[in-house]
Amino acid sequence: MWSHRGQTRRKIFPTPPIRWVLGAGLTLSIACGGDETQKSAQPAPDTNRRALVVGIDGLAGHLLHQRAFVDEDAPALRKLAENGASARCKTPEDADCALAHDAPNHHPAYVWQSAPGWISVFTGVDPRKLGVASNDDVARYAEARTRYPSFPMLLQRQGLRVAAGAVSPTLSAPIVRLIPGISIGFKPGVLDFENGLDPDNPDRPNVDLNQSKTLNLTHRFSSDKVFDRQDDALSSWASKLLTTGDAEVVVVIFDLVDGAGHDHGFGDNHAYMEAITRVDARIAELIGIVESRVQKHGEQWLVIVTSDHGGGADGGHWQDPLHQRIPFIVTVMPHRNLAPLTQPTTHMDTFSTILAWFDTPHHPVDGKVQGIAPNRPSKPALPHRSVPRVQ
Ligand SMILES: [Zn+2]
Repeated sequence: MWSHRGQTRRKIFPTPPIRWVLGAGLTLSIACGGDETQKSAQPAPDTNRRALVVGIDGLAGHLLHQRAFVDEDAPALRKLAENGASARCKTPEDADCALAHDAPNHHPAYVWQSAPGWISVFTGVDPRKLGVASNDDVARYAEARTRYPSFPMLLQRQGLRVAAGAVSPTLSAPIVRLIPGISIGFKPGVLDFENGLDPDNPDRPNVDLNQSKTLNLTHRFSSDKVFDRQDDALSSWASKLLTTGDAEVVVVIFDLVDGAGHDHGFGDNHAYMEAITRVDARIAELIGIVESRVQKHGEQWLVIVTSDHGGGADGGHWQDPLHQRIPFIVTVMPHRNLAPLTQPTTHMDTFSTILAWFDTPHHPVDGKVQGIAPNRPSKPALPHRSVPRVQ
């Protein structure tokens, strides 16, 4: 029951290392930039703690509740929610819904789109502090990256191996690729801009499309969106990585629930609800691997599930407060009782919670620790100046 649907589709799209090179010199410049961060990395902490962050793009909180708890057709997500602390979002108006960042409520330039949403998850701060208002200005994070480093960057500096897999605009990817190896365009990803700007093209991050190791990621995997197979590629990549155990922290952001929302409306329609069930099966497979690691290796896992934004029945997500309603689930394996979520629960809490799990100090952010520690306001664990700077 945990994995019956996703399994049959997984192998259709063999994991495709994207072999598309932007130009000579790009990889070289990144390698040079990487030396400094590598030198500043601390020895790996002596811990058996690990973490899995599952992002589900465009998943509205009340529609996950409908699918998991009313329709009973998202068993993996339901089990995670029941075993941990989760935002129960029975209706869009429910005060217990988790929220995406608050920026569109305060500034007309900001919208609930993927780039500002996911970079808020990665940095723990409102995208107004980053200048990332929409999917069209992802390069702005290059300016804010030293003030607001991502949790992958901070955890890597602590010596942990961090992996992330996503589509654009979270990680840079080809726009379309009809023939393997041939792309007609490049779409930049916001998290890649933590590596700075491409000196030859300031609209692009200093990262090659097929680059698997960057300043902020030990394992980087970006997938394009051709033929709706991106979630196959992402789940295959994450499954392999979890199985080998080559990363202490794995982040995977699935894309096709958002696609169903855009095509059919973010609502109680067959296509959107089936998309939730399909991603649930993928999550079931990943959680199954985590469970086996807990049993075989005695590891302790933090699992967080959240989204970047919800959406409306018209298939859009912009500035309607309905689009702010998302899920947030935090679970620890092996099971332990967690503190109830404090309100407002936001996806920025991902940052604070995962850093607390690894006992990693950080600068002040808008997120707060959820579930695993006594709730406290988002005060600095260390002064801002203590955060190493990226050059
Ligand atoms: Zn999105």
